[in-house]
Amino acid sequence: MIIAITSVIAIVVIVFVLGVRPKDLPEPEPVSPFAHLDERKAAIYENLRDLQFEYRVGKLSDTDYQLTKKDLQKELATVMAEVDRVKLELQGGRGQAVASAPKVQAKAAPVTSGFTCPHCGASFKQELKFCGECGKPMKAVKA
Ligand SMILES: [Zn+2]
Repeated sequence: MIIAITSVIAIVVIVFVLGVRPKDLPEPEPVSPFAHLDERKAAIYENLRDLQFEYRVGKLSDTDYQLTKKDLQKELATVMAEVDRVKLELQGGRGQAVASAPKVQAKAAPVTSGFTCPHCGASFKQELKFCGECGKPMKAVKA
């Protein structure tokens, strides 16, 4: 009886998961930090287009047009500044990642080139019978 209930629950869960997944997929999470800024930018551009259209049609007075346009351009400048800030932040993060990578390579390089002592890890350019660091006999490890 317990097995039957468990298997029924399992089937329900599987059906639920399979049924929910396709619905969830078309809603991508905002991964890009620019997504909401792009949306705002697009909205402002659309407003500017509408504004220009209404002005051309004669719905808006010259003053109204200029004032609204100024407001929208100010908002656009704010969004652009925010985009620049986020970009700089991202570049800074990438720059740190790039800067730390060569350091790791520089540390690894002396070990792989030349001859390394298997006892203490000291590396030498020449092949040595005995380690210059710990004095133990060392077998050459060629790069
Ligand atoms: Zn050694």
